[in-house]
Amino acid sequence: MTVKLKTFEIKSNPFCDLIDITTQVQNAVNNSDITNGIVNVHVAGSTGAISTIEYEPGLVQNDIKEFLEKIMPYKYDYKHHRTWGDHNGSGHVRSFLIKTSETFPFHNGKLILGTWQQIIFCEFDEKPRHRTIYCQIIGE
Ligand code: ZN
Repeated sequence: MTVKLKTFEIKSNPFCDLIDITTQVQNAVNNSDITNGIVNVHVAGSTGAISTIEYEPGLVQNDIKEFLEKIMPYKYDYKHHRTWGDHNGSGHVRSFLIKTSETFPFHNGKLILGTWQQIIFCEFDEKPRHRTIYCQIIGE
């Protein structure tokens, strides 16, 4: 069994920017010299998240944003704002709920995903960010 860590960088916009990172994750697997195994995709931060979605405009630009805004609105009196004087309480709660990493299997070098399933990074912070995405690849 082999373990390899690959990383890539992305720039994100604030307030629920959903970015398709499927190609970058597949490239990380391709460059790992591991053929069969799993890849854990992780963002080291408390206002980002990793998930999957059918990456089409209705979901990406409207439905997911509107749903999350209903249950975790940005304009709300989060006690976190009093702790640090920042305004990203919603971002922290969203990250807590959706989680900062996901693990995907791959076989013969190819990620096992549905036809309409893409891997996404979710930016939930209140300002643009530069993020490093970590791909821990385990297999043989
Ligand atoms: Zn904060």
